[in-house]
Amino acid sequence: MYQVIGTLPFGKQQNFVEGDYKWSPSTINWLRSQQILLNFTVGKGKRFGDNMDSPACSNDEWKEKLTPEQYAILRKKATEAPFSGKYNEFHGSGRFICAGCGAELFDAETKFDSGTGWPSFTSPIDKGSVAENPDKSLGMTRIEVECSKCGGHLGHVFDDGPGPTGLRYCINSMALELKPDQ
Ligand code: FE
Repeated sequence: MYQVIGTLPFGKQQNFVEGDYKWSPSTINWLRSQQILLNFTVGKGKRFGDNMDSPACSNDEWKEKLTPEQYAILRKKATEAPFSGKYNEFHGSGRFICAGCGAELFDAETKFDSGTGWPSFTSPIDKGSVAENPDKSLGMTRIEVECSKCGGHLGHVFDDGPGPTGLRYCINSMALELKPDQ
């Protein structure tokens, strides 16, 4: 078990937490080289939630808080089946918050129809609302997107999106909840 605490380049103290990250030394070096994590420490076997200002839940607590499907995605990095999620076809307005911790992640204004079967956005609400990590699982090199506040896995980001950013944040519906405009 590792806990990684880092400072983002724009100075906001950011905690990256996960009960079972298995980052290799080369991944950690990559994070350092890309200055994604500055001044960070990796502690082995620390209790999940130590020294954090973000929601501190043990794996058992997450299991209680989330549905089994949400737990598999947010805490175990699973992916929902394409075209299965409740927000894939959503075209209304509002803000999408993290299903794990309630942090505001994406504005529905930035949502577009990517045809992939997953809700897709051109940008997060705020640069700091999501964290991006290299992901070499399944024989692919992708960039994983997670909630900055609770470390929950959200999906991946690709560089084949439309304007204005050219990015496609491909996010699991199950990791999100819609907060409709008041
Ligand atoms: Fe979260």
